[in-house]
Amino acid sequence: MSADCIFCKITAGSIPSKSIYEDDNVIAFHDIRPMAKVHFLIVPKKHIETLKDCAAEDQDLLGGMMLLAPKLAAEQGLIGYKTLMNVGREGGQEVFHIHLHVYGGGAAA
Ligand code: AMP
Ligand code: ZN
Repeated sequence: MSADCIFCKITAGSIPSKSIYEDDNVIAFHDIRPMAKVHFLIVPKKHIETLKDCAAEDQDLLGGMMLLAPKLAAEQGLIGYKTLMNVGREGGQEVFHIHLHVYGGGAAA
C-alpha cells in the first residue's frame, strides 16, 4: 500500500469505483474515462509501480490477471477486445500502480 496511490485507495475501498470483481489478490473496475463502450481495469491489490518492477514472485499474480481478463470480458458481453498495459511515463502510463486495461465493444459514447 502506497499512501498517495489512487489505485491503492480504490483497492482499500477508501475511494469508490464501479467495481465488477474482487478476490484476495485483485480488483477490477470500470475505467473512469472509457476508451470504448466497455473499458475496465484489472488491478492487483499489491502496489507495484510498473511492469518493470515485477519479479519472479509476481508470476502467479500476473498470470492470474491475464486469465481473469477473458472471464470478465465475457461477463461484460465482449466477444473481441483489447488488453493493454502501459509501462512507464514514456509508454503512456499515468497511474503508477500496475493495471491491465481491457476494452472493446466499439467507441465510447
Ligand atoms: P494508464 O495510462 O495506463 O496509467 O491508465 C490509467 C487509467 O486509469 C486511465 O485510463 C484513467 O482513466 C484511469 N483512472 C484514473 N483514475 C481512475 C479512477 N478513480 N477510477 C477509475 N479509473 C481511473
Ligand atoms: Zn498503489
